[in-house]
Amino acid sequence: MREIDFSKFSSIKIGPKVEVWEIDEVCKIPEGFFLIGGANNLLVSPNPPPLAILSKKFDYIFEDKEGVHVGAAASGGKVLSYAKKHNLKGFELLQKLPGSMGGIVKMNAGLKEFCISDNLINALIDGARRAKNSIDFSYRKSGIKGVIFEAVFEKKEGFDYALVEIFKNMRNNQPNLPSAGSCFKNPPNDFAARLLEAAGFKGKRVGNMAFSDMHANFLVNLGGGIYEEAITLIDEARRAVFEKFGIRLELEIEIVR
Ligand SMILES: Cc1cc2nc3c(=O)[nH]c(=O)nc-3n(C[C@H](O)[C@H](O)[C@H](O)COP(=O)(O)OP(=O)(O)OC[C@H]3O[C@@H](n4cnc5c(N)ncnc54)[C@H](O)[C@@H]3O)c2cc1C
Repeated sequence: MREIDFSKFSSIKIGPKVEVWEIDEVCKIPEGFFLIGGANNLLVSPNPPPLAILSKKFDYIFEDKEGVHVGAAASGGKVLSYAKKHNLKGFELLQKLPGSMGGIVKMNAGLKEFCISDNLINALIDGARRAKNSIDFSYRKSGIKGVIFEAVFEKKEGFDYALVEIFKNMRNNQPNLPSAGSCFKNPPNDFAARLLEAAGFKGKRVGNMAFSDMHANFLVNLGGGIYEEAITLIDEARRAVFEKFGIRLELEIEIVR
């Protein structure tokens, strides 16, 4: 077991201090457990279900003829540094994309049209090797139900520094305050930030939580923000956008309750 204080560990700086089961061998986790990665996409309630996290045993990177093997507990930043050092292409989107590789693959995380599955060959899920084409990847979704222990990526030469610059620039309008990244998914052919702004939610504050005045789709913690304030803002924003545009915003962040 490992004690985790989510008000420090999670990127949005909200949540209780709880005992978390540390997994150190390939297995299936019992029903009812919620697996966390780096908690960069999570809003953890004061009374979460039993939680699990992968141990450091799954924090590795190595190459063989098949490709680049990445343990699911390795951080995106570590993989990015490895790709730079070994001149590997296809990992540039990890620039400033916080998370463990397990969480990043599960969320099919990415920027604009680029996503982590672009370069994936297979993943080790619940002990079974699954080819990419047997996994249902789509926008910020993988459909993966089990635990990802490892991901194998294509080994292509030529780390693209120009692409990294593009990704860095895309992030210039993102706030520096604690958040869990984009709060809502972009609906087809529109932008959640545009809808939130038009519904009057850019900069809208409840207690110490707010939709950023820099980017309306970032729910930020102004300091000491709490779960209930975050939930109030999320519910109010969804209601207002639905009333004004008839669009049901889908959460990109995951609420763990
Ligand atoms: C400032 C900021 C900017 C961000 N920008 C982006 C962005 O540009 N694009 C983007 O896509 N996301 C972005 N995010 C969100 C976040 O980086 C991604 O969702 C990332 O994939 C979260 O990884 P994590 O390890 O923190 O996962 P967590 O937040 O801990 O978990 C996310 C999901 O993954 C599951 N999971 C975690 N590990 C595993 C595993 N080993 N096996 C199976 N399931 C697992 C969890 O159960 C949960 O469902 C941003 C977040 C922040 C804070």
